[in-house]
Amino acid sequence: MLENLLKYLAPKQVKLVAVSKTKPLDQIMEFYDRGHKIFGENRVQELVQKQEALPKDIEWHFIGHLQSKKVKYLASFVALIHSVDSFKLLKEINKQAKKNDRVIDCLLQFHIAEEESKFGFNLETGKMALESTDFQECKNIRIVGVMGMASFTEDKNQIRREFKNLKSIFEVLKSNYFENAAWFKELSMGMTGDYKIAVNEGSTIVRIGSLLFGKRN
Ligand SMILES: *Cc1c(COP(=O)(O)O)cnc(C)c1O
Repeated sequence: MLENLLKYLAPKQVKLVAVSKTKPLDQIMEFYDRGHKIFGENRVQELVQKQEALPKDIEWHFIGHLQSKKVKYLASFVALIHSVDSFKLLKEINKQAKKNDRVIDCLLQFHIAEEESKFGFNLETGKMALESTDFQECKNIRIVGVMGMASFTEDKNQIRREFKNLKSIFEVLKSNYFENAAWFKELSMGMTGDYKIAVNEGSTIVRIGSLLFGKRN
């Protein structure tokens, strides 16, 4: 599956994050030994344990809801935080990145699903965060794009609509705040059930778990 998936994604220049949450180390190593080095986790403790146990050239992405008080555990090694869903969190990431003498790449997570969710910016709150002077002073984070999750539904048109919405949010932010920022280019959208739709709508990073690792319990 990995090889087929990469064959589909590579020509479109879409990056694959293999979502290894709940999966054991040896399953991650199977993919590592086949050359894949980008993995995603959604729990801090699990991520830290895996990072300590596994080869240090793995690129770890954090994809779940992140509590501010836990940022310190990831700050020394995380490659990309997909799920920055509040300004408070952004400031804490900046603080911990500074302590580690790093600049941490982040995506702003937007709430695009029609279903209810507690997490994510909307266009208005996202703009407010980016316009605040507090944010201008955050020199140890780099916003490289946006992330979103479509509704859990069979309705492909709805999923497509939600991804189109994320793409348009990306374009608005790009033209308002990141016009000359070459690094602001990532659109993290698409999972096992909807990655083909996401790729058609312009995704640059897909986060895929069950298709690669099998169903989770
Ligand atoms: C679990 C998870 C995924 C992967 O889900 P699959 O359907 O198994 O591909 C992607 N993104 C986030 C944020 C997740 O929590």
